[in-house]
Amino acid sequence: MARVEFRNIRKEFVDDNKGTFTAVAGSDFVIHDKEFVVFVGPSGCGKTTSLRMIAGLERQTSGDILIGDRVVNNLHPKDRDIAMVFQDYALYPHMTIRENLSFGLKNLKKPKEYIEQKVSQAASILGLESMIDRKPRELSGGQRQRVAVGRAIVRDPQVFLFDEPLSNLDAKLRVQMRVELSELHKRLEATIVYVTHDQVEAMTLGERIVVMNNGIIQQIASPTELYANPQNMFVAGFIGSPPMNFIDVHKEGNVLRMEGGEFVIPDSMAAALSKYENEHLILGMRPEHITGEDIPVISNLDYTYSTKVQVVEHLGSENLVYFRVGNRTVTAKVHPETTGYPGMEKTFIFNFDKVHFFDPE
Ligand code: ADP
Ligand code: MG
Repeated sequence: MARVEFRNIRKEFVDDNKGTFTAVAGSDFVIHDKEFVVFVGPSGCGKTTSLRMIAGLERQTSGDILIGDRVVNNLHPKDRDIAMVFQDYALYPHMTIRENLSFGLKNLKKPKEYIEQKVSQAASILGLESMIDRKPRELSGGQRQRVAVGRAIVRDPQVFLFDEPLSNLDAKLRVQMRVELSELHKRLEATIVYVTHDQVEAMTLGERIVVMNNGIIQQIASPTELYANPQNMFVAGFIGSPPMNFIDVHKEGNVLRMEGGEFVIPDSMAAALSKYENEHLILGMRPEHITGEDIPVISNLDYTYSTKVQVVEHLGSENLVYFRVGNRTVTAKVHPETTGYPGMEKTFIFNFDKVHFFDPE
């Protein structure tokens, strides 16, 4: 297995009509040996392009890519010792599962016994033994996805590359396959680079996550770190479900003035706030850090705000309550007993202990 490194990687696509488009604008990162790293970001942010450059299916405009200790810039995909699993599985429909799994190794002219051993090993790891002589059309979506993973496993690659492999599965199966992929990673002790636009998938699978937007890396961190310390408003608004709320505040001396009142800045928060030069700041607060208790326990880190409930969404164990602060909609994730109903006048408590600040974008 191996590490993967990007050194100032740029990728520009040149289009005769539209001119030059920068899909990846100078990426730098190191993916460690045996690490599970997820690239996440909205559609079009450069995830697939980055993955295809690791695979050698796309050539970078500038910069160096290393796999292990080798610079692989000029290496053909088949010489990079990687295996890629795609969203659409790309199985051969006329071949059995066994033939699908064997195909790549046969092309590499591996001995028959070696191929048989690798195929049965992969089938066993993925629970495909009982369907090994069936054709792909006789398999469910989840089973087909496993075959696609099996085709990567038999090759013993240094690095596994996954491009949105679960997006064609239904929600329940996706959750199940997530667990299977995590287990597989432990079992194979492999380096995995995994692309998804789904932040929940990224948070549950990744040991570290590379958050991208518009071809630019926004932050590289563990799921816990991304949640607790998002570096900018993009990351804050992308990670977490529902995403972080943003509220406009004005810093005036030792108070934060906001819609509905003001909050006296305690000493414990003063240092963190002093680094912002703008008077106008964006306060970020996660929905789970706003409560709707009827009888609040007020500390100097609580801010109470009374307003009309706009919309309620019932999720079961917790509910989402939407209301307005200034011209922004804010979501609170609250206990069913304190949910209330649309139109109701309600007091919310913001837990300023868990607050984030950003410069306005
Ligand atoms: P993602 O996988 O994050 O959705 P991609 O890496 O596929 O995004 O694409 C990033 C951007 O580069 C998109 O705007 C896409 O339209 C553009 N792009 C990707 N491949 C090509 C190509 N072959 N020619 C021109 N533009 C491309
Ligand atoms: Mg993509």
